[in-house]
Amino acid sequence: MRVVVDQYLCGTTGQCALTLPGAFRQRELDGVAEVCLTTIPQSLHAAVRLAASQCPVAAIRVIESDDECASAEPVPSQAEAERHAAKDQHNPGGHDGTV
Ligand code: SF4
Repeated sequence: MRVVVDQYLCGTTGQCALTLPGAFRQRELDGVAEVCLTTIPQSLHAAVRLAASQCPVAAIRVIESDDECASAEPVPSQAEAERHAAKDQHNPGGHDGTV
């Protein structure tokens, strides 16, 4: 099992880190949760699933198997890839100016 936290979705409540400090921690800088373990040991599977189910913004994703992990990689559509290419040409530095 693996687990990931969506860094953009995390609401920095700290609930996961308080519930399961062996698996989650919060960045000091901004409070966004991070996963401490590359692979979740069997003994923590139930607790990690519970933490994921209790995240108020559903930012924690549990990946049960390597197969699921491979299929979790988003594959951009042709239109999306072209949109990104056009954006990169318009802004070669890659930063769109938003903060
Ligand atoms: S419980 Fe969810 S929102 Fe709260 S810190 Fe953890 S990942 Fe972020």
